[in-house]
Amino acid sequence: MRDPLAELAELEAAGLRRQLRTLDSPQGVRISLAGSGTVHNFSSNDYLGFATEPIIAAAFAEHLQRLGHGAGASRLVCGSMAAHRQLEEQLADLKRSEAALTFSSGFAVATGVLPALCGKGDVIILDKLCHASLIDGARLSGATLRIFPHNDLDRLERHLRWASETTGPDGRILVVTESVFSMDGDTAPLMEICRLKDESEALLLVDEAHAFGVFGPAGRGLAAALGLESRIDLQMGTFSKALGLSGGYLCASRAFVDLLINRARSFIYSTAPAPALAATLGDALQLMAGPLGDDRRGQLWRNCRQLEPKANSAIIPHIIGTNEAALAAAESLLHKGFLVPAIRYPTVPRGSARLRVTLSAKHESDQVQALQRALSEIALTSAL
Ligand SMILES: *Cc1c(COP(=O)(O)O)cnc(C)c1O
Repeated sequence: MRDPLAELAELEAAGLRRQLRTLDSPQGVRISLAGSGTVHNFSSNDYLGFATEPIIAAAFAEHLQRLGHGAGASRLVCGSMAAHRQLEEQLADLKRSEAALTFSSGFAVATGVLPALCGKGDVIILDKLCHASLIDGARLSGATLRIFPHNDLDRLERHLRWASETTGPDGRILVVTESVFSMDGDTAPLMEICRLKDESEALLLVDEAHAFGVFGPAGRGLAAALGLESRIDLQMGTFSKALGLSGGYLCASRAFVDLLINRARSFIYSTAPAPALAATLGDALQLMAGPLGDDRRGQLWRNCRQLEPKANSAIIPHIIGTNEAALAAAESLLHKGFLVPAIRYPTVPRGSARLRVTLSAKHESDQVQALQRALSEIALTSAL
């Protein structure tokens, strides 16, 4: 039988071993790291600084007293509470969709929705750089999978044409992409993708994990920024990034949401999120969509443009190449007091290991400037 220690040694030798790093402080733009002391944090997805927002903390404490912390059961048994329903209504309202369904995480949305909607005889077409949760969901479904090179519309069109010819009259064709790609920080050509999927009568699922709260009016996402919300059949996202809490969502037609309540296994067979969390998410959504959210988005984009005038999002990658070189660059930055993670295979393709800088509205201008200096000292320029 394989020895786990031998597997770990193989990972180590390939520069692919991962270790947990413990924070001795709450999340934030300055954190205390075990072994490294206080550092500037450029690695979290807390884009709006909501993970430590006192208004949200106070709301959480109050909801905890009022609603309790344990849901006690899955949503379909006896765990579906008014707080869950209100959050879903509020979200559908904000996203101008007919209905919404919330899950315990964004990962659970992807691994629940794809197998619930597609199976044998159906075709799922994914962008090559789609998040692991989308790939796992697609694999779990048993549908035929087709991958197109990142943002390659010609290949997408060819896959769609092939899928239209091969699927039966009841067959589903589902195109899956992200709006902002998590490791490259670039955006998908959603307008063109909508046009192509309409021509083939395919469905489209867009994962807005890194765009929700950051792009569009009221932070509704990139689809909203482009006026495409009503043309995207399935809009998913997470509450774990810009919203600073945790959980995932799907916005879609009432029929799709009702079908998911019946079929999405990660929804059905998992205990409902804490009711106090669901209620707090409602407050965080309201903040995100209001003046505080606008203010933070303004600050976030100023920080992004300060670090990289060509920034497409709050994710700014510096592609390095080998695992060892990326790890050395991250280590060198850590010595200078900056936490920027080295991202390696299988999170990114082999040979494209990189530093991934993420910005937050809470970064101070001189922190951004100091990072810029540190990056130039190790001779790194962004991949943009
Ligand atoms: C983070 C992420 C997820 C998972 O969301 P969680 O709420 O953290 O489980 C899904 N898709 C993409 C693109 C992500 O970046």
